[in-house]
Amino acid sequence: MIDSENAQQMLEQRRAETIERIGRLADEIASLVAASADSNADDEHDPEGSTIAFERAQAQAFLDEARATVVDLDAALIRLADGDYGRCTSCGATISAARLAARPAARTCIDCATGRR
Ligand SMILES: [Zn+2]
Repeated sequence: MIDSENAQQMLEQRRAETIERIGRLADEIASLVAASADSNADDEHDPEGSTIAFERAQAQAFLDEARATVVDLDAALIRLADGDYGRCTSCGATISAARLAARPAARTCIDCATGRR
């Protein structure tokens, strides 16, 4: 049985942390963009320029991931409000507490997530 108050607290905490992370990553990307404008960005053999480009791509990937996490957490909060939290959206099975502890925004049970069902 899901302790929905507890789950809500955890989801909201994760959401707040992720929003904070998005802010930090956006700042990081902005400063990398500024740094690449300063370096000789036209020279693709400039080692500093390519390091900045790599770091920027990495930060962008983290940012995309963090944004997707917020979407997942929002969806989980909606399911919680609807009383569907902790139920697999694919097969309807109860998602294990251990899985929810590790991934509070999990939509599917471990069997569906790993393609075993
Ligand atoms: Zn399932």
